[in-house]
Amino acid sequence: MIAAKGYAAPTPSAPLAPFSFERREVGPHDVQIEILYCGVCHSDLHQARNEWGAGIFPMVPGHEIVGRIVKVGDHVKKFKVGDLAGIGCFVDSCRTCPSCQEGLEQYCEVGSASTYNGTEMDRKTPTYGGYSNTIVTDENYTLKVAPNLPLDRVAPLLCAGITTWSPLRHWKVGKGHQVAIVGLGGLGHMAVKLAASLGAEVTVLSTSASKEKDAMDLGAHHFVVSKDAEAMKAQRGRFDFILDCVSAQHDLNLYLSLLKRDGTMVMVGAPPAPEAVHAFSLIPGRKTLAGSMIGGIKETQEMLDYCAEHNIASDVEVIAIKDINTAYDRMLKSDVKYRFVIDMATL
Ligand SMILES: [Zn+2]
Ligand SMILES: [Zn+2]
Repeated sequence: MIAAKGYAAPTPSAPLAPFSFERREVGPHDVQIEILYCGVCHSDLHQARNEWGAGIFPMVPGHEIVGRIVKVGDHVKKFKVGDLAGIGCFVDSCRTCPSCQEGLEQYCEVGSASTYNGTEMDRKTPTYGGYSNTIVTDENYTLKVAPNLPLDRVAPLLCAGITTWSPLRHWKVGKGHQVAIVGLGGLGHMAVKLAASLGAEVTVLSTSASKEKDAMDLGAHHFVVSKDAEAMKAQRGRFDFILDCVSAQHDLNLYLSLLKRDGTMVMVGAPPAPEAVHAFSLIPGRKTLAGSMIGGIKETQEMLDYCAEHNIASDVEVIAIKDINTAYDRMLKSDVKYRFVIDMATL
């Protein structure tokens, strides 16, 4: 086994603290990565505090991992020592179900192996995430990272980037489309950059008027304060596509009213309780309400390559790992622009 160190939540109620554990030996198809940066996703906080239940403790969170390959197994073809690499939200899947066969491993029908707070496909061995110095993964579940972007700003692409990229691509968003992004946080700020880069005319809908300048700087063309009933009314029937990045309670019917005929609203944020949708928010105008979850390996690679080519990366605040608990508290208050990223050299 390989000795590893990181930060873990020992229990749901305790703050994260230094933790020593082991990674598996590098198998024939594995790579070992020295982790350089790990993004801090909102779901890290939910899981570390066991707000979604069934948490496995001690828990080492982190699924926005970038680093450098330090060892490769005998049969590894994709990587060599010294290459840059990334790991997203899962590290394995069944590889045989229809979803896996189609490269949609995130929807693996027996359940993929989460990067942390889950188990390997043996359903016994717990997985530990990226708030650590090293990780061993199968090369097929490891992404190639181009050297031209700052690595700290690349890390959040592995979750926030792909979560917003996948629906934009699946619903073929591009030139000539009116797109609204609801909520300007970790997900929303990537959605604005990507949708604008794909050629769409982007409007940010946010509860806080103070975010207007940022929205425009990120590439949005318009900004609407969603608390302003008159301003929202003026947007009715305007959008081909709405990406809803909000994970707090909000009225979906209000946003559905902004769609054009045949428009689609996709949820990527996860509010804590069910939201009521009136049939008449959908029927007149043949509207679609859908959801989307991260992306498969092939699509994640496509997104990383696109971002490298178009010089797109996340806006981040780099922190030392000892400050992770403070970062969680600040994240709860949306006090971050737009993603915390841990510099693993501080471990
Ligand atoms: Zn995430
Ligand atoms: Zn599968």
